[in-house]
Amino acid sequence: MLFIPGVTNELVYEKRSWFVVHPKGLVVRKKGEEFELLTEEDVEALKLDRALAHRMGSLDETDALTFAISGDLPEPYEPLPLRALAAFLDGSIFGVVGRALHTADWLTTSRFCGRCGTATTRVSGERCMLCPSCGLQIYPRISPAIITLVRKGDLALLASNAKFPGAFYSTLAGFAESGESLEETLVREVHEEVGVNVRDVRYFGSQPWPFPNSLMIAFTAQWDSGEIVIDAKEISDARWFSVDELPKIPPRLSVARQLIDSWVKEVRG
Ligand SMILES: [Zn+2]
Repeated sequence: MLFIPGVTNELVYEKRSWFVVHPKGLVVRKKGEEFELLTEEDVEALKLDRALAHRMGSLDETDALTFAISGDLPEPYEPLPLRALAAFLDGSIFGVVGRALHTADWLTTSRFCGRCGTATTRVSGERCMLCPSCGLQIYPRISPAIITLVRKGDLALLASNAKFPGAFYSTLAGFAESGESLEETLVREVHEEVGVNVRDVRYFGSQPWPFPNSLMIAFTAQWDSGEIVIDAKEISDARWFSVDELPKIPPRLSVARQLIDSWVKEVRG
């Protein structure tokens, strides 16, 4: 699966790969218990206006197109939400689907100028919407968020969020605020959510999280001081875990899981 990003809306190939996005998830065709990605025939059946599609780039010698749709879907189509998608898709296509979700969100939220209210137009050759009245340019917005595994010796701090399905434990995360460095975000978020102070913040990796528009930047950090005191609004439980007593943790594909796996591997030597 080879995806090459591009910003031109000119079609290059004879074949297209469709990523139709609904507010509830990626639209797939249900076939028995299986799901399939949409084809040209499905786009025809759904009566989508191809002129409104947005080209994301090329995917295995096809034009990869995204299209934002809303309302009720006829049988056998249904929107597959994020959690289900992660199980259905392999890693390489998951990134393309993420780009489609983010692009579709941008397409639906940038139809009008936020400054003067005029309907915007698409700029060819750039992923940009332009206000013909006041000149405002609207690019897809990316919201950076930190995610961190805090360690204390061989233990790691994992927390359960009231919103996590199935009550699993994960690393701490939070959005950067205006004027903050990512390191400052991390120190603040950890202190706000679980009351401890951390030091030795080290970059680990990053992962686009386009639900709808985040970029997760992962770090490791060392506990410095303080006992765990949870912010009950965001966290339902937080504890120090050893690698031998791991709770239910996030699924593969997530950078949270990669942080946890890396810690387990290091402790186990
Ligand atoms: Zn305007």
